[in-house]
Amino acid sequence: MTTTAFYRQLTEEPQPMDALRTQTERAEAAEAELLAVRDDNHSMMLEIHNLRIERDKLLAALELFMERVDEPPKSNCSCHLSPPCNDCVEYSGLREAFSDAHDAIAKAEG
Ligand SMILES: [Zn+2]
Repeated sequence: MTTTAFYRQLTEEPQPMDALRTQTERAEAAEAELLAVRDDNHSMMLEIHNLRIERDKLLAALELFMERVDEPPKSNCSCHLSPPCNDCVEYSGLREAFSDAHDAIAKAEG
C-alpha cells in the first residue's frame, strides 16, 4: 500500500448508511435462516411424532404375533454329530426371530 493510499484510507469519511445497510442485510439474512431452522425443526418434530406412532403400532403387532406363535423350545443342537441337525433346521429361524423381537421390544421400552 502506498503512503498516499494509506492516508486516504485513514482520512476517508465513515459511511454510516453503508454500515447500517450491511447490518440490516445481515440481520435479515439471520432472521431468514432462523425461520428456516424453525421450519426444519418443526418438520422433524412432526416426523418424530409420526414415527413414534408407527413404532408403537409395529410393537403392538409384534407383541400380538409373539402371543399367538409358540416360542420354540430351548436349543438341543446336535450339529456336532451331524450338521445341520433337526433341531437347527426346525427352529433356528424362529429362535432368531424371537430373539430379535425380544431385543427390539426391550430397546423400544428403554
Ligand atoms: Zn444344530
